[in-house]
Amino acid sequence: MTPVQKLGTEYGNTLYVKREDLIPFSFGGNKARKAALFFDEIDNGDFDCVVTYGSSSSNHCRIISNMACRRGMPCLIVSPEEASIPTYNSQMMELFGAQIRTVPVQDVHDTIENTLSELREQGRKPFFIPGGGHGNTGTSAYVECYEEILDYEKENGIHFDFIFLASGTGTTQAGLICGQLLHNDEREIIGISIARKNPRGRDVVLDSVRDYISGTDIRDMVSPADIERRTVFTDEFIYGGYGSSSAADTINNVMKKYGIPLDNIYTGKAFDGMKRYLEENKIFGKKVLFIHTGGTPLFFDFLNKEGIK
Ligand SMILES: *Cc1c(COP(=O)(O)O)cnc(C)c1O
Repeated sequence: MTPVQKLGTEYGNTLYVKREDLIPFSFGGNKARKAALFFDEIDNGDFDCVVTYGSSSSNHCRIISNMACRRGMPCLIVSPEEASIPTYNSQMMELFGAQIRTVPVQDVHDTIENTLSELREQGRKPFFIPGGGHGNTGTSAYVECYEEILDYEKENGIHFDFIFLASGTGTTQAGLICGQLLHNDEREIIGISIARKNPRGRDVVLDSVRDYISGTDIRDMVSPADIERRTVFTDEFIYGGYGSSSAADTINNVMKKYGIPLDNIYTGKAFDGMKRYLEENKIFGKKVLFIHTGGTPLFFDFLNKEGIK
């Protein structure tokens, strides 16, 4: 259960933050919540190594390689050479002894397949974790998070009108939407895209929601239109795509005012997007929850590059 913190009035609304960045393992974040469930499967199954995928700035790869290292399990990471500049995350992957295969982005898919079959030929038992912890396991982690939000509301006698979050592969957002469907309650969940454009970005979230719901008791009770209505994924604030952002002022201000680190790939972009979304849609006097999805090591990369002006 991660803490919910009330920040106060921001942009004409009462702002709260759910501190997923404080999950107590390897700088936390949404990838830590998802990874815990993947490693439950690994621990309960017959596996002896882990294969995953991600860039040098990937929070997912940091967490997976740390969890593997802790178990003494080899971890292989396939990484696109287009996004391979060293970061604190990639330095930690090295610290954890991850074996990184850097290949051109168009070869990533085949390299993963080849790596898995080579390992199997050697008699190894690899567990593959999709990039970013995408898939039903990752989705279910955020159904649980949604339930924590409901518990917080009940205990404190409040109701959040809006939830905002940084949306990448969309798994985190899909989990929150599934939680909402399972509990049949209402509020707006707004995914701020950090890279993908629509329609694809939103379609991936929709697919994740449908896929997860099809395996639950409520599958016949949820209408396709209801899923469509609840899936709001905006690509208005992606600037130049993954890693590009003009959120520097927001990141600096949130750190100075609240002591909360954001980063310029995910949470800074989403926080800035939330502010602009609230302004553009003239939303005032509401209770707004921002999900802080983590990425603390990226704050330090930001600080080195452009933080102090
Ligand atoms: C990966 C990540 C996201 C996006 O999560 P998805 O489930 O892929 O949409 C958001 N914030 C941070 C800090 C992340 O590392």
